[in-house]
Amino acid sequence: MAKNKKKKKVPQRHGVLVDSFTELNKRHFSGQLEVPTCLRFGKVEKPEDDGHGHYVDTANSLIISLEARAFGPLFYRDALVHEMIHQAVAKLDGHPGKDHDSHFVAHANRIADALGLKHVEAGSRSATQWPKTLRADDYYGAAESQARQQVKWRNPRASTARSAPSGALRSNAPGAHGRTSGGGHGDR
Ligand SMILES: [Zn+2]
Repeated sequence: MAKNKKKKKVPQRHGVLVDSFTELNKRHFSGQLEVPTCLRFGKVEKPEDDGHGHYVDTANSLIISLEARAFGPLFYRDALVHEMIHQAVAKLDGHPGKDHDSHFVAHANRIADALGLKHVEAGSRSATQWPKTLRADDYYGAAESQARQQVKWRNPRASTARSAPSGALRSNAPGAHGRTSGGGHGDR
């Protein structure tokens, strides 16, 4: 059985992503998108602002991050549909497809109607991270929200406005001196 040895360089496709792609393609793109030659989970080399996926038009390659996979299907399918919009803009609309411009947003808002999400404006952060920022805080589950909290701790921006009128609230609880109060409330 002389097996053909030139089998190894076949571009990778991960089954669950192909299944999700096929389903989302049918639902949101009338089945017009071609399954990318490379469609897999992996390290996202140059993550865009949304961070969890990368579509390369010229290579017809769509990568979803390993972290997104760890957050579960709800999360990675959102990342996938985002990248599919980049693909649609490039392959169906004939534009560069890298930006979150009016071409991107036209698809995003069309799909948002089907998902019951709000519309976003071209170039906005909500467009860059679409549809992640439009989902309810607990939509993706515990793993993702924990990770989000950790990012907040690492980038404690804009928390100065919360300067504490602590004197007014201090109770005379004895022995509580060493405690810092107020850990753990996010700004949502
Ligand atoms: Zn994007």
